[in-house]
Amino acid sequence: MIAKSIEEMLLTKQNSFLIPGDKVASVQEDNPLTHAFLLLTKVRYSKIPVLDGESHLLGLLTMPMITDRMIELMDLSFDPLKDLTVKDVMQTEFDTLKTTADMDLALHLLVDNPFVPVVDEQNVFRGILTRREMMKAFNYIAHNIENDYEITEKASRHHISKLAGTEIKHA
Ligand code: AMP
Repeated sequence: MIAKSIEEMLLTKQNSFLIPGDKVASVQEDNPLTHAFLLLTKVRYSKIPVLDGESHLLGLLTMPMITDRMIELMDLSFDPLKDLTVKDVMQTEFDTLKTTADMDLALHLLVDNPFVPVVDEQNVFRGILTRREMMKAFNYIAHNIENDYEITEKASRHHISKLAGTEIKHA
């Protein structure tokens, strides 16, 4: 479990680090791959969510998933994309967070993912949590925690760090 003080401060920043669904570039599962190729080129994000017509989250799409299909005999061609849609190449196994998830899980998932999609109980896409926004929230906490909480060093911990210092000096 993360410290209660840090969890409380993170929650006050929650609205700033969740990027809402309507601000997130996404594609539909039945969009032609040529359309997805153009969109990924324009938005310049490396990975974007794939939704169905009712905003359910179905997958994630990257440019390499598309270009991999364009490689023909050491050449690149749009021809193989003609009959393909996003659902033919998207990634379907990935981490998600429920809107009810706690900060502990969110932090663990952001260690391995630059962003994590957030869904409600019906798997409707609500937005993304990004490592970048979380780092900004931590930066805020690191600078402000002593304004909001009394932080005292535990005696035993102080003792250990002094001992460690002595050990390093004599090493
Ligand atoms: P950032 O935190 O801005 O570096 O973004 C990390 C990753 O999150 C990007 O590479 C994208 O895959 C995704 N991402 C961030 N913002 C958006 C957005 N507005 N729309 C779609 N994907 C996004």
